[in-house]
Amino acid sequence: MAKSSESVVIIGGAIVGSSIAYFLREVGFSGAITIVERDPTYQQSSTALSASAIRTQFGTPVNIHMSQFGADFFRTIKDRFGSTADIGFVERGYLILGGPETVEVRRAGVEMQRKEGADVAALSAEELKQHFSWLNVDDLGVATTAWRDEGWFDAWSLLSLVRTSARDRGVTYVKGHAEYVEVSGGRVVGVKLSDGNLLPADWCVNAAGAASASVVRGIGIELPVSARKRTVFSIKAPLSRDGFPMLFDTSGAWIRPEGEGFICGIAPTEENDPDATGDFEPAHELLEDVLWPALAHRIPALEQLRVERAWAGHYEVNTLDHNGIIGPHDEIPNLIFATGFSGHGVMHAPATGRGVAELVAHGEYKSIDLSPLGFGRVRSGTPLHESVVY
Ligand SMILES: Cc1cc2nc3c(=O)[nH]c(=O)nc-3n(C[C@H](O)[C@H](O)[C@H](O)COP(=O)(O)OP(=O)(O)OC[C@H]3O[C@@H](n4cnc5c(N)ncnc54)[C@H](O)[C@@H]3O)c2cc1C
Repeated sequence: MAKSSESVVIIGGAIVGSSIAYFLREVGFSGAITIVERDPTYQQSSTALSASAIRTQFGTPVNIHMSQFGADFFRTIKDRFGSTADIGFVERGYLILGGPETVEVRRAGVEMQRKEGADVAALSAEELKQHFSWLNVDDLGVATTAWRDEGWFDAWSLLSLVRTSARDRGVTYVKGHAEYVEVSGGRVVGVKLSDGNLLPADWCVNAAGAASASVVRGIGIELPVSARKRTVFSIKAPLSRDGFPMLFDTSGAWIRPEGEGFICGIAPTEENDPDATGDFEPAHELLEDVLWPALAHRIPALEQLRVERAWAGHYEVNTLDHNGIIGPHDEIPNLIFATGFSGHGVMHAPATGRGVAELVAHGEYKSIDLSPLGFGRVRSGTPLHESVVY
């Protein structure tokens, strides 16, 4: 539990790091908070390059609870940040499609999610066809959706609001590259910057996203977090955006409305998904080879589409189990991880921010128990299995 005279240094100032700083003030921590950020333009941060969607359809209760908190945070953004605050939150369910062989498993998933308080439902292929006439349901058996707490928003606006608020409440953003964490006597004592300066720290939070493994490698910690490239295509198509969901196809392809058109993507196969540190070149071949055929099969209107632009960002993939790693290192109690979200870090940033802030300020989780996401499972190599991974 931190005293008010103590200092917190957060490595990485995008949505996760900034949310932690914001919530540290929200929970009453009055000590010094410094965020070290190597690129204040955030050009290559996952946050800026994300598809910025939120879902409660997870296979793990803790992920569902984090999303519920996130959705509530997004809905009430004006209460927190003032009447002009706007993150363009479109509250609309994901539509996750499944083949006939998945009906039982998917219905069981919905049962579990409903038990955890998610407002989700399963639709049959007939119901799907009634609601979404533009969809080819021939090879489908089921789809699941949510009536609330899912949708999409603008991550950049969210980051700006959280960051500005943190700054206004005395959080210092320092431009610098954190080279490693300095440890002495089993505790972090500071963060060493590449310009040679040492930022003294009573608490250190590693929120460096896809680069978070490199920050602790020097002290012998092998964090299973790897930068994996994900390409987003912005397209125009002769298809109405009215009521169009965040659609996840059985092929792994996804598409949702954005601006005057749509954005869409698909993950590469595992063999074609190496660590991509430093590589931000969009994987254009994915569109022709896999994504377009998959989309056109599912939505015949997409046989015609025009690509406007494409970009690539990094998922900070936790190669152990595709779930966030949140909480202290087992042997270095003042070193806290907040990374490895594997494609759901923006939606889970508010809950992570509040959880880590509670941990630092109160010595325990007060709201959502995030301990299932702790470092212990990394140490023991015991994955927390998440069945709904995109
Ligand atoms: C294409 C794509 C689509 C996505 N879609 C979604 C989605 O729909 N919903 C969702 O919730 N999530 C999505 N994600 C994932 C989400 O973007 C990330 O999980 C989230 O942004 C992680 O936030 P972060 O602050 O931890 O990391 P980042 O945003 O990457 O921030 C880390 C920051 O740390 C800084 N940094 C790194 N190393 C150092 C260092 N040594 N010293 C100083 N600073 C350092 C970086 O400059 C960066 O600004 C998507 C990601 C991508 C790439």
